Amino acid sequence: MAQILDGKAVAKAVRARIKSEVQELALSAGRPPGSVFIQVGENPASTTYVSTKHRMAEQVGISSRIERLAADASQEELLAAVRGCNEDRSVHSILVQLPLPEHIDEHAVALAISPRKDVDCFHPENVGRLMIGLPGPKPATPQGVLMLLDAYGINVYGMDATVVGRSNLVGKPLGLMLLARHATVTYCHTRTRDLGGACRRADLLIAAGGRPGLITAGMVKPGAVVVDVGTNYVPAAEAEGAAASDVAAPGGEAELKLVGDVDFAAVEPIAGYISPVPGGVGPMTIASVLQNVLTLYRLIEGME
Ligand code: NAP
Repeated sequence: MAQILDGKAVAKAVRARIKSEVQELALSAGRPPGSVFIQVGENPASTTYVSTKHRMAEQVGISSRIERLAADASQEELLAAVRGCNEDRSVHSILVQLPLPEHIDEHAVALAISPRKDVDCFHPENVGRLMIGLPGPKPATPQGVLMLLDAYGINVYGMDATVVGRSNLVGKPLGLMLLARHATVTYCHTRTRDLGGACRRADLLIAAGGRPGLITAGMVKPGAVVVDVGTNYVPAAEAEGAAASDVAAPGGEAELKLVGDVDFAAVEPIAGYISPVPGGVGPMTIASVLQNVLTLYRLIEGME
């Protein structure tokens, strides 16, 4: 049976470490790290995510606040809120929760956030920094995945790593970060001809397709490290056999269950390590956002 990559436990340890670093650094900087979460509208899932990040930030000693704008707020109003945070010296980190209402251009927002305060690593300057290995924030979920692997002493150097998914949010940056750690990276997507073959040769298989049941037992090399990034809400009856949770979908649809992309029950006996859903990558993503706040704080306060 595979060893479980317990993201919940690792994230707790990461938060404890961040808390003690924040305490120490705030003494020399004379002020704590400051973080602003901006939410436009009342998407229930966004409200849950923003509240959780805000609460966790406060728990580790980050001075955090949520700015809520009405669903019909104009793009200019949002940009003005972002600019206010850019200029506020007590703010080190700005996160605008996605998705945004359709009338707002996400790229314009990403460009408006100061790259020095861009905790989600969406600004093209930070994407470029990631590409060439300069210091800066790292995309939260990919960094969370690497922190999870590190916690179990899994060194990807020289590994064949297959990343299923090529989004700007998860797959693409995670592949780059694995490459920087000297893995040999294969990207897969909806046009990949032999998904099974690419997965079967992987020592490290990352599932970030957002499709329940995408990764089956026959696609996993015995002993491989399997990291399931997928978060899919499916009707409870369909979730049987998966590492499904009793966690209701954010927004409260109680009959839905959270599952990943991997057929957990079938893959667990084959893999060497496997991350469950929930309790794997999800908690690591939030810990990773807090890590980025600390990184930005250090850079802005000249402690790096
Ligand atoms: P996305 O933007 O929808 O991208 C999905 C990617 O998977 C695309 O590149 C797509 O290929 C590929 N894909 C989809 N179906 C496939 C298939 N059948 N075969 C091969 N490739 C396939 O999603 P995302 O934002 O990257 O997120 C991916 C998953 O991770 C989602 O379930 C999301 O909810 C979850 N997520 C979890 C966390 C967390 O904290 N746990 C954080 C972020 C995201 P194409 O490019 O060809 O369309």
